[in-house]
Amino acid sequence: MKAAVCYEVGKPLVVEEIDLDPPEAGEVKVRIAATAVCHSDIHILRGDLPEKLPTVGGHESAGWVEDIGRGVTGFKKGDPVVVSLLVSCGKCKYCQTGRSHQCNAAWPMDTGTRIHNKKGQDLSMLFKTGSFAEYTVVNQSQLVKIPADMPMDRACMLACGVITGFGAVVNRARVPVMSSCVIIGNGGVGLNAVQGAAISGANPVIAVDISDKKLEAAKTFGATHTVNASKVDAVKEVQKITGGGAEYVFITVGSTDAISQGLAMSGVQGMTVVVGLPKITDSLDISPLMFIKDERTLTGSYMGSTQLHTEIPKLVDLYKAGILKLDELITARYPLEQINEAIESVENGEALRNIIVF
Ligand SMILES: [Zn+2]
Ligand SMILES: [Zn+2]
Repeated sequence: MKAAVCYEVGKPLVVEEIDLDPPEAGEVKVRIAATAVCHSDIHILRGDLPEKLPTVGGHESAGWVEDIGRGVTGFKKGDPVVVSLLVSCGKCKYCQTGRSHQCNAAWPMDTGTRIHNKKGQDLSMLFKTGSFAEYTVVNQSQLVKIPADMPMDRACMLACGVITGFGAVVNRARVPVMSSCVIIGNGGVGLNAVQGAAISGANPVIAVDISDKKLEAAKTFGATHTVNASKVDAVKEVQKITGGGAEYVFITVGSTDAISQGLAMSGVQGMTVVVGLPKITDSLDISPLMFIKDERTLTGSYMGSTQLHTEIPKLVDLYKAGILKLDELITARYPLEQINEAIESVENGEALRNIIVF
């Protein structure tokens, strides 16, 4: 089978034939139909976050069950599935208290792999998924069955980009109706925070970005106001629109400047939620005083605090009802052979979501 392998940080991926081991106990082999290029993949490929190389990236995917390992129940060959990086044991204290996205169980795939190149060298599988490949082997808990008529190129985005943005608003912040929301960064994740806020009944929903193209897209996803931070003082603008500061601010870009800016945009008792991944070397310089008098909260959201198995089917229903927008997120589709072009266009900020289709 073919996969796109990262051998060296900063270098183009190499598309080559690799070998995949059969699924072990509790694991499922999936034929990948579509996988999106996410900024987290790019962070790894550029060395902003650590990962054992060589690696096969890709973690936002959908496909069909191809084979099942020992003890797997609930899946059979041909089932259409969303493949996520979230693994859950169902037994730990987090899984048992509705926080399965924080599952702390140990997995063979934490240190192991199921893929090797033709020289016999082990390749790591990024985020226990490695879906820049025709097939992958994952734990059964990473899969959610979807209806057969759900288009794969749209379903794949439910695995990470959609739930990360949407869930930050709906699950982590639990934004109440009519509250003011700011979303800094309006790419693939940010637009899902925008539509999460709009669907929650927030008002105003203020999109902040430096790209007019992305701000236009944000309006389609439900933003009531847009602020181009390269043209105006975005903090002052948000303070003006909200009458002193927003109740919720979501930072979907991996930038410490954006976090500081977001905190400055938050008002009394405002909550700022960090969603976009910064570099591992980044640190934040803020005055703790802002948390006392004005009772601000600074927190984060991991994978939209999503409970995969209950929420993915609901998001599919929302899409089918015409409420959740997915079609509008896709900028372009690429074959695996052109993955480097797909990555470059995401990195340049040209694309919302680029999808590799098989
Ligand atoms: Zn991702
Ligand atoms: Zn668990």
